[in-house]
Amino acid sequence: MTEPIINIDKVSKSFGAFEVLKELSFSVKPGEKLALIGPSGSGKTTILRILMTLETINGGHITVDGEQLWHKEENGKLVPADEKHLHRMREKIGMVFQLFNLFPHKTVLQNVMLAPVLVKGVSREEARTRAMELLDMVGMSEKADVRPAQLSGGQKQRVAIARALALQPKIMLFDEVTSALDPELVEEVLNVMRRLARETDMTMLLVTHEMSFAHDFADRVLFFDQGRIVEEGPPEKIFSDPQQERTQSFLRKII
Ligand code: ADP
Repeated sequence: MTEPIINIDKVSKSFGAFEVLKELSFSVKPGEKLALIGPSGSGKTTILRILMTLETINGGHITVDGEQLWHKEENGKLVPADEKHLHRMREKIGMVFQLFNLFPHKTVLQNVMLAPVLVKGVSREEARTRAMELLDMVGMSEKADVRPAQLSGGQKQRVAIARALALQPKIMLFDEVTSALDPELVEEVLNVMRRLARETDMTMLLVTHEMSFAHDFADRVLFFDQGRIVEEGPPEKIFSDPQQERTQSFLRKII
């Protein structure tokens, strides 16, 4: 059996007295495309933010690509991760957020080139070539020299996807990437992501309210409610024949 690329083991997370995640466990296989669905506030985004090390955890363990995320081994013992360890772990994971956070004063091309040059020390030429390939893949190469303010929301989000891919992470996280878009712009972003899901062997985790998209995109769907996984399975099963009452009532409301 292949080792999971992500293993989440009894992870708890509280904000003050509010327990967002309750001993949550699940694992993800390399190359797997996973959709996290469920009501607002059920902890889906928090999981992605924890994987990005934007939030800490209160209990449990997470391994990413064979290594502990929040701990590191020192003389055979697990000790809390230091900044150097976290920095290295962050390179394994890329994330695209709900709100496009492109650098406003840089061009589209510069936005995509910047991190490989600054973070990974890639030469400018190589970064430029790779950035243009990625912009081509998301259908944005014609806009390489414009600034984000001149783009539509859907175009900005496609650039944000190219920018996250430029660092060549093993794992990509997508957090409601279409929910801030006007409805007519949603489809162009989903199309790019459908292609990505089909054409790369990258591991992908997606939080979404677009159920038909989750259906097309995912190998497996996790249904969250109140910080726990209530039900999981292949999309055909979850969307056409959910077993749990809570999944059924959520899907009745949303579809
Ligand atoms: P989902 O993505 O399923 O909508 P989230 O993971 O965003 O859920 O949030 C889960 C709960 O945690 C929500 O009730 C939210 O208000 C709360 N929460 C998230 N982040 C914070 C924070 N930084 N401080 C306090 N509460 C938070």
